[in-house]
Amino acid sequence: MSLPTTAESDALLPQLQQIRRALHSAPEVGLDLPQTQRTVLDALEGLDVEITTGEGLSSVTVVLRGGRREETHAAVLLRGDMDALPIEEETGFDFASTNGAMHACGHDLHTTGLIGAVHLLHSHRAVLPGDVVFMFQPGEEGWDGAGKMLDEGVLEAAGVPLVGAYGVHVSADQPQGHAYSRPGSYMAAFSRFDITVLGRGGHAARPENALDPIAGGAALIGQLQEYITRRFNVFDSVVLTTGMFHAGTAVNVIPESAELSISVRTFTPEATARAEAELPRVAREFLAAHGLDSRMSFETILPATINDDTEAHFFLDTFADLFGRDRTHQVPFPRAGSEDFSRVLARVPGSYGHLGAALLGVEASEQEVNHSPRARHGDEALGGQALFLAHLAARRLHRELDRAAAEPSA
Ligand SMILES: [Zn+2]
Repeated sequence: MSLPTTAESDALLPQLQQIRRALHSAPEVGLDLPQTQRTVLDALEGLDVEITTGEGLSSVTVVLRGGRREETHAAVLLRGDMDALPIEEETGFDFASTNGAMHACGHDLHTTGLIGAVHLLHSHRAVLPGDVVFMFQPGEEGWDGAGKMLDEGVLEAAGVPLVGAYGVHVSADQPQGHAYSRPGSYMAAFSRFDITVLGRGGHAARPENALDPIAGGAALIGQLQEYITRRFNVFDSVVLTTGMFHAGTAVNVIPESAELSISVRTFTPEATARAEAELPRVAREFLAAHGLDSRMSFETILPATINDDTEAHFFLDTFADLFGRDRTHQVPFPRAGSEDFSRVLARVPGSYGHLGAALLGVEASEQEVNHSPRARHGDEALGGQALFLAHLAARRLHRELDRAAAEPSA
């Protein structure tokens, strides 16, 4: 197996840091990231790869053909998201953004790490037993850029089946050079549950002549929490948060209606499906028992991010092999945030995980978290990040080669 080396990724680091800092100083939000896309295309200039750009979003899909591809007819996908957040930056970096947006979630590092992986694998492409698809994705922060790239065919880009898909997310409050993941549920599904409670307005002093949607809606919040604790497995958690509750216009008036919006986090497809089927029914019947009509909608916006068991161990073992077991952490619990890479992992076995990116010389736990205007990611481990991604792809393809070789030929 000819694999990229630490010497190669070390040599790439200064160039990667320069790209990262350029991206950081010019962040773009959402699905349309023309300048970011240009930076990616410039960084891949002259490489022997197939590049397509998105129609409805400024994605970049790169296919690298391996010299030994005929031996496996398989491909692996690596993903990096590229979008920033609408936050005024307060990091004090000399390359800080001044345009009102900020790479507060570290996607500048994801984009750059993936550029590095293209370069590393490109140098070894002659012996690569398969193809690699690099998914440069806009719009992760609530725009479902992953879903849109799937619609535009990113999973079919290589023309051969994908046997593995991998991605990483940096965190500003975990130490550089450390990796975190786990088999199974890794990040939550996010569903939005909207309820309109329809009562009958009246005088505050005469509730018996009205149907009070505020009292019904308030009682419903507690009722749903109780239902969760009695009817769902405590080890397959459901988190309900009523983020909005709007009703009323005056202190002495019972209003006609009340509006609730509830954020629902679940960690398995089973719990997501049950929440979707049962919570609207419980809410409707509870409100009906109080004489209240209701309208509701329950929409699962992102599925849970589920790591394939074998691929999650492979992810952690590959990192341990490159950087040491003491820097590799199989975490006990999933994270309650959501991630649209879940859409890829719902279709291709793979693994997602976090990489520490705290500033060197600062205690990681003292650093501000991702999405803070003061979140500061260090970029000294970017070479290692690129090397790790490159090894995930190359080693996974070699595993496919071993499997193909073991199969009796037809
Ligand atoms: Zn992020």
